[in-house]
Amino acid sequence: MLIAANKAVSIDYTLTNDAGEVIDSSAGGAPLAYLHGAGNIIVGLEKALEGKQAGDELTVAIEPVDAYGEYSAELVATLNRSMFEGVDELEVGMQFHASGPDGGMQIVTIRDLDGDDVIVDGNHPLAGQRLHFQVKVVSVREALAEELAHGHIHGEGGHHH
Ligand SMILES: [Zn+2]
Repeated sequence: MLIAANKAVSIDYTLTNDAGEVIDSSAGGAPLAYLHGAGNIIVGLEKALEGKQAGDELTVAIEPVDAYGEYSAELVATLNRSMFEGVDELEVGMQFHASGPDGGMQIVTIRDLDGDDVIVDGNHPLAGQRLHFQVKVVSVREALAEELAHGHIHGEGGHHH
């Protein structure tokens, strides 16, 4: 079975940056299970996997535009410390979920602290980076009706709920 929209796909993968450092990997855990065509994984990786089948291995370099986007200085903002009430102690590197301009969830990272100023960065931590994936397709099957309705895959390597 070939990978196409609405297939449930399991992959083993290793993600490295331009410097060859491993950023993420499924090694030592369950393969990643995702619903193809549903935006569960970055668009560049979906494109590369389209038409592949179980057992196929590929190495692909994905430009930021097809990964987590270019780094945007406009997504850096200075907020007042009072906006973080309920947080015991703010630290550089802390991450929060916030609703982004398109209504979707966005992760913001504290870049700097200066008195009452909290400098936050809404860029994805991997924004502006070319990503290198080594992927092996483990399995491809039809997604279940319930998985299609939820927009993700259930079971090992997917969602449990
Ligand atoms: Zn679900």
